Amino acid sequence: MSETIFDKIIRKEIPAEIVYEDDLSLAFKDINPQAPVHLLIIPKRRIATTNDIGLDDRELVGHLYHVAGKIAKEQGFAEDGYRLVMNCNNHGGQTVYHIHVHLLAGKPLGWPPYTDRLKV
Ligand code: AMP
Repeated sequence: MSETIFDKIIRKEIPAEIVYEDDLSLAFKDINPQAPVHLLIIPKRRIATTNDIGLDDRELVGHLYHVAGKIAKEQGFAEDGYRLVMNCNNHGGQTVYHIHVHLLAGKPLGWPPYTDRLKV
């Protein structure tokens, strides 16, 4: 599968509100926020879906969750709490085929999320 818009954000070819970056990952504000805080945490190396996470990717995927906690503590909502979501394929509501952790925070969050976006 070919590259996505997230590769362009990684290469800084299109703008994004980047809140965190390191050698392995990038975190930026979602362009269509579903909560007062809505960030996307992505690996710089593209993996299309969670189905494609291999044994060699475990450290990288774990790193995304480490970054989520780090941002939550730095931005001050770690104690109140937040939600981390990875959507996979059509029924999961995935629209960008470069894995990403949605970090949602800033208010009590309803459940289930995104039901209006499912294509069934
Ligand atoms: P998903 O639907 O789980 O694949 O999530 C993809 C997310 O990427 C959506 O929440 C979009 O709003 C978000 N998104 C798409 N394009 C951009 C962009 N250029 N900058 C920031 N977020 C984006």
